[in-house]
Amino acid sequence: MASVTLKPGRERPLQQYHPWVFSGAIGATRDQPGAGAVVEVLDAAGAWLARGFYSSTSQLRVRVATWQHDEALDSAWLRRRLAQAIQARAPLITHATSACRLAFSESDGLPGLIVDRYGSFLVVQLLTQAMAARAHEIIGALVELEEPDGIYERSDAEVRAKEGLPAHEGLLWGATPPAQLRLRPIQLPGTCVEPPPLLVDLCGGQKTGHYLDQAVNRARVAAYSRGARVLDCFCYSGGFSLYAALNRAASLTLIDSAPAALALARANLALIAAPPLIEYEVGNVFQVLRRYRAEHRRFDLIILDPPKFVHNQTQSERAARAYKDINLLALQLLAPGGSLATFSCSGLLSADLFQKIVFGAAVDARREVQIIERLGHAPDHPVRLTFPEGEYLKGFICRVA
Ligand code: SAH
Repeated sequence: MASVTLKPGRERPLQQYHPWVFSGAIGATRDQPGAGAVVEVLDAAGAWLARGFYSSTSQLRVRVATWQHDEALDSAWLRRRLAQAIQARAPLITHATSACRLAFSESDGLPGLIVDRYGSFLVVQLLTQAMAARAHEIIGALVELEEPDGIYERSDAEVRAKEGLPAHEGLLWGATPPAQLRLRPIQLPGTCVEPPPLLVDLCGGQKTGHYLDQAVNRARVAAYSRGARVLDCFCYSGGFSLYAALNRAASLTLIDSAPAALALARANLALIAAPPLIEYEVGNVFQVLRRYRAEHRRFDLIILDPPKFVHNQTQSERAARAYKDINLLALQLLAPGGSLATFSCSGLLSADLFQKIVFGAAVDARREVQIIERLGHAPDHPVRLTFPEGEYLKGFICRVA
């Protein structure tokens, strides 16, 4: 059996059930494992620690999938883990047409596999050599467990490149999803409005078609939108605006650099029976906010939900400046007593550092800012205690004096 033996003293994270083994921690490799093969992980003295999947190209050499010696990583294991992940979401799926993340990679003990359900269709990301090699097993298990109409692949090209895998998108099984689907996101009890049906573009849209991670936050942020002039920056398909409109915002201004995103947002907001004043702006948020500042425009609720700015550690300083820049601009555009909902989805930027960046922006803007709520991803994106890296989305709802 192929195995990797760790260097002396490098076993601690694995003993604490952290699932990653980097190449630098490996002292020796026996029976050279193939790309995506199952591999045993041993400590420096040769004692068995865990079992995982090998990557022949990534610095992240082994992703551990079991710490039980008698658990084989075979198709029964895959089906079992998927069934557990799906079962855990059952309380969140209240409508037949729900959109929900069913499997969240390491956080669900399925390293490299993401499965999103959009009504009767599934969208998968196969992000490691191991999962790409097991596509048929994954499809088989999903067909059996979920009985979908179709399974579509939208694997993230950037992550696959690190694994030496080509970018891949396309139909894996069954019927191609229609161009647009109308779905209800998951909702937590007690949040303000009934989840509205959202239009989702599974094949052409960003990511797996929709940003499921913000499902609950949209309802939370909308609680601050009644009668407000709302500015939705990086709006994509207008999810935040849609909830704000349902909560009787006075006006909506949506900014995104992608015309296709604004077209989706338009279609989403067309579902509102009595829409507020709506303005769509195709442009770069960094520039548009500067223009608004020069025009002395004011808003009562500003949402900042930018894409990931930090892709690797070397970019973190530049990214911090970018986060500070937009937060400063937003604080300058807020009317007294206004609210700022500010997010970062950069996993490499900690919540602590993000808070410090917003602090820096507040000092420069000479505004007094209170954090009213701290937000993370929706409960279909669980955070495994032994895998804090899985927690990437953080946000604050702030009140500005
Ligand atoms: N708020 C959205 C998700 C935002 S994803 C939701 O609730 O679903 C980030 C969005 O920012 C994408 O739609 C992308 O097209 C857009 N974007 C990226 N860089 C931008 C920039 N500099 N200015 C404006 N939009 C940008």
